Amino acid sequence: MSRINLKSAATLREPAELVVHGLASAADIPDLEKVAARYAVAVTPDIAALIDPNDPEDPIARQFIPSAEELVAQPGENADPIGDHAHSPVAGIVHRYPDRVLFKLVHVCAVYCRFCFRREMVGPGKATALSSDAYNGALGYIRAHSEIWEVILTGGDPLMLSPRRLTEVMADLAAIDHVRIIRIHTRVPVADPARISAEMVAALRVEDAATWVALHANHARELTGKARAACAAMIDAGIPLVSQSVLLRGVNDNTAALEALMRAFVECRIKPYYLHHGDLAPGTAHLRTTLEHGQQLMRSLRGRVSGLCQPDYVLDIPGGYGKAPVGPSYLSQANSLPGEGELDPETRYRIVDYCGDVHLYPPKPW
Ligand code: SF4
Repeated sequence: MSRINLKSAATLREPAELVVHGLASAADIPDLEKVAARYAVAVTPDIAALIDPNDPEDPIARQFIPSAEELVAQPGENADPIGDHAHSPVAGIVHRYPDRVLFKLVHVCAVYCRFCFRREMVGPGKATALSSDAYNGALGYIRAHSEIWEVILTGGDPLMLSPRRLTEVMADLAAIDHVRIIRIHTRVPVADPARISAEMVAALRVEDAATWVALHANHARELTGKARAACAAMIDAGIPLVSQSVLLRGVNDNTAALEALMRAFVECRIKPYYLHHGDLAPGTAHLRTTLEHGQQLMRSLRGRVSGLCQPDYVLDIPGGYGKAPVGPSYLSQANSLPGEGELDPETRYRIVDYCGDVHLYPPKPW
């Protein structure tokens, strides 16, 4: 018996609804109910329409349709995989690097990604947003720390706020003299592009700070005509967009998929920014790749697309030590080269080109 939740306005939130729409098998309902009791589920109509129910390997389904594999936590996985708590001086703020903070205003998203590194913070039974007192406390913290140059609104998804509330938040932040950049991390333009209304775009613009938007998408198919129009509306209003993606097994862990995604971003005037290695969030091992595989993919991308299409491949170091670039290195030192014997008299740099061929470069500037 289906249990379609009419209040959800066609966003699918229950395993039985997924079955009704051909996105899950009835036999899986007992396991999926266990997953949904622990981790939030939401599939918007725009995302559901992208899924091919006849493809068991569909890369969009893999990102959003829950799986029994999420019930299995692996050693090393952690409810707070990137150490937000260790760097949270007040509710809603993560202050990991001197000149910037994360401001976690809302704890809800349009869709829930099965690999989410904050899945324990946006899950069932959690508050949907910061209380008014906590919001004021977070603003007070930012005001009191003049080294904070950039505030990153993140999630949950800040574009789940109404344009009216977002206008207030942006004005509160822009009124702080030392806050020069407000960056918004969002999946809404792909998950629910209709939310990017003229009012929402207007809410993003402020006089006294620069707004940047980081769009989260992991497969080129997510950049539909409607998603592209939503992004163009922001860019045409003077808001620069960058991308962030997660390297995911069965979604984008092959050269063709990654290349198509990066080309699609650039065609949309979105600069590829980060390709994240999967975080050690509980029950997400089936979606992670190895670092070696990520490096191979970055090498193959380097040979195929222009610098505009190259993201930084990064790992958030478990424990809260920040991001580290983990892409391949093209530079090393060498005393010799195969077939050329000893290099005399100086150690030289060894540089690998995009075809994999090795070249030398002198160590001194003359
Ligand atoms: S949109 Fe972001 S915060 Fe929300 S579930 Fe996906 S990865 Fe997590």
